[in-house]
Amino acid sequence: MDCCRKCFQGHANPLAAQTDETADIGNCDLCGIPNTNVWDAEVLLDQFSALLSHYETSDEGAAPSLAEALQGDWRLFAHRATPQATAFLRAVFADEPVPLPLDRPARLRRENAAATDHSNAWARFTEDLMHRSRYFPAAASNLEFFEQIVTSRARRVKPGVTFFRARVCETPDGLPPSQMSMPPAPLATAGRANPIGIPHLYLAREPETSIRECRAVQHHFVTVAEFKTTAPIRVLGLDDFSPLDPFEIENDAASRLDAARTIERLGRELQRPVRPTDNEVEYVPTQWLASLVQHLGLDGILYSSSLHPSGTNAVLFDDGLVAVDPNPKTYEITAMTLDRRLVS
Ligand SMILES: [Zn+2]
Repeated sequence: MDCCRKCFQGHANPLAAQTDETADIGNCDLCGIPNTNVWDAEVLLDQFSALLSHYETSDEGAAPSLAEALQGDWRLFAHRATPQATAFLRAVFADEPVPLPLDRPARLRRENAAATDHSNAWARFTEDLMHRSRYFPAAASNLEFFEQIVTSRARRVKPGVTFFRARVCETPDGLPPSQMSMPPAPLATAGRANPIGIPHLYLAREPETSIRECRAVQHHFVTVAEFKTTAPIRVLGLDDFSPLDPFEIENDAASRLDAARTIERLGRELQRPVRPTDNEVEYVPTQWLASLVQHLGLDGILYSSSLHPSGTNAVLFDDGLVAVDPNPKTYEITAMTLDRRLVS
């Protein structure tokens, strides 16, 4: 059975190490693409032997097949290749003993007893922090895995890079620069990344994103201030989070996957707009993760904007690494577009 590079998702391509000169030209049996560079599935024996060593047969009735588990855990196969995944695994091990039965349900082996079911890792994590143990949660026993994910996704922002913050104001006179930075600690209300009393600076990479994020509507006046980094800073990049490459993992795969999914989820949770009707206890899990990122020595987090598609936000834990422009600009919003979706 032949496979091609398009059979796999970009972040975990076991054929990446194969050079084109080693390929035949043919039709891919796994994903169906015709007339392309193909390799016999057996060339992937070492990589899949290592990957399957993290798995065990499961006798839980609802457990997925091994191929389904690989797909659910790592998003390994491209969409068109998924139906043939079990046949592909059989072809990889055509001349070798299969490490575990391919037709039995399987799951990641849990080397850490705390990780009972990684498919609901976020639900367990939030329930524990919100309702059981606010300051010493079970997740704290997994710190080494969080640390590896966070530090491997850290990005450097050089000095002189501009970010933006917008605030709605009452009059065309706008707001002075002193009111554009983060509030003093005693006045800091809770946000998705910061607990009450601990202010963070919420910025955007684009002025349009900052205006969208401050919820300005037509005829509002908005002051937009520029903030420039004054030193190199390091931020956790959640705006373009690539999943773990399962072929790079040597041990504790279930715990690493838990940690990676939790950090990836942090990026999506930070995107959710804060509403006055929110119960602030719901912010505790993201506040804990942001605090962990800060504890690991990073200066902030980059995450996508849900209010301005393709826009990126940044939360900085401290405003001492940026300088506010002394001349913020004030705009009147003259028009907004309206998109809607039927919800009831
Ligand atoms: Zn293919």
